[in-house]
Amino acid sequence: MTLLRHSYIEGRWIESGGERRFDITNPTNAEVIGTLVSSSLSDVDRAVAAAQRAFLGWASLTPDERANYLQRVFDALTEQSEAIAQSITTEVGSTISLSRGVQAGAAISKFDYYADYLRHFEFEEHFGDTPVLREPIGVVACVTPWNFPLLQIAAKVAPALAAGCCVVLKPSEIAPTNALLLAQCIESADLPEGVFNMVWGEGPDIGEHLVGHPGVDMVSFTGSTAAGRRIAAVAGQTIKRTAMELGGKSAAILLDDADFNVAIEGVLDTCFVNSGQSCTAHSRLIVPKAREQEAIHVARKLAEQWTPGDPFDPTTRMGPLISHDHWSRVQRFIAAAEALPHTQLVTGGAGKPEGLDAGYFVHPTVFAGVHPDDAIARDEIFGPVLSIFSVDDEASAVKLANDSIYGLSGGVWSADQDRALRVARQMRTGTVEVNGGTFNGAAPFGGYKQSGLGREMGPHGFAEFLELKTLQV
Ligand code: NAD
Repeated sequence: MTLLRHSYIEGRWIESGGERRFDITNPTNAEVIGTLVSSSLSDVDRAVAAAQRAFLGWASLTPDERANYLQRVFDALTEQSEAIAQSITTEVGSTISLSRGVQAGAAISKFDYYADYLRHFEFEEHFGDTPVLREPIGVVACVTPWNFPLLQIAAKVAPALAAGCCVVLKPSEIAPTNALLLAQCIESADLPEGVFNMVWGEGPDIGEHLVGHPGVDMVSFTGSTAAGRRIAAVAGQTIKRTAMELGGKSAAILLDDADFNVAIEGVLDTCFVNSGQSCTAHSRLIVPKAREQEAIHVARKLAEQWTPGDPFDPTTRMGPLISHDHWSRVQRFIAAAEALPHTQLVTGGAGKPEGLDAGYFVHPTVFAGVHPDDAIARDEIFGPVLSIFSVDDEASAVKLANDSIYGLSGGVWSADQDRALRVARQMRTGTVEVNGGTFNGAAPFGGYKQSGLGREMGPHGFAEFLELKTLQV
């Protein structure tokens, strides 16, 4: 049994002073594998004060000096890469190949990327005789979710540290070991005391105390839109900058000339990856009415290849959901959709797959005949549930895709790349995958509408942590 009872404050592991205890659970078999002890409100105060004390020294290092620290963190994380992957498969249930490639690999690479970026970044520019300085914003509170836990942490902590900010991280209380490993790597890289601090706890108490803290200059949050609304309100009391990466309900449009086998394979890859627990899941599939039956046939055939199973088995494509509560929530969406008179259950449905009773497994599920106002069409389910819609023409497809409070991601598929690009430009989302285009980790990532504020990744993700100072000479 793991016992995580320390917070990391000012370069030391101190006994967390909170009352709350959280079970750490393995979602594959529902066994409790550890306990996390919450930090206290005064631990948060100490962490923020430590970050404030460290700020001027860290901000005044040269870019090369800070880059060297980041590179050391990268090296230490690289050594821990397999331990990180194993911990995420154990605590989140992500397949081991996803954990190795994305959960660990892509996360770790952020430290290398920003070390390199920092060495070449111009912190000063000139407008005529007027120098304009880019300076770190100060103390940043990073609050992160459990679904891609270390990737979300690294997408904030690496650029914030590179920019010269000091950090107080509050990772998700649900899958904590990866954050613990990161803090150990930062400790072994000998960063100056107080530059990076980490506290634990639930959102509404520890999280809110942190994001509302007057000593925090900026909040960088990834999580649900509901929590984002609350955090923006709390942080707004002191006019803090907030960067928000929130939920999504993304649509993939298949144009009438698309190869449905290729396209639906690609759509399911985004919709079902991490058991559907991905903010960019393409959970709405929009097809031309004339090819609806073909879409249903192909979706059934391909979805049934996503057999859930042991996430440590390298051949498994889908593990369990994160928790019993989340499993029950996803079941409610599926059962409600099954009960609607107009929907057609194409494959899957409520209940647990045979032989997988112990863990939080669900059937990969596809519905057709879904109406735009149904809950499964509008809400982020965060499970492997795809809804198929049919439309008369391209304009209706775009209108339906954009009919959402969210605007995180989307996709367009066509035999004609120019046509696909033309449709992609009409989508109101931060990212559009054109014919399954690959994810570029140096390009900006973020949401329109209620999917977020600001951008992560690459140069845009770095700029979020900088203030501009104009010297009128
Ligand atoms: P969540 O919103 O419940 O929690 C995220 C984090 O916020 C946790 O650390 C939690 O403790 C904290 N938190 C919650 N309420 C808070 C409050 N009032 N004040 C301060 N902190 C608070 O989300 P989750 O269930 O961990 O993650 C799933 C959600 O994250 C989904 O909606 C998903 O779409 C979203 N997400 C978005 C992105 C993106 O890049 N847009 C990436 C991953 C996940």
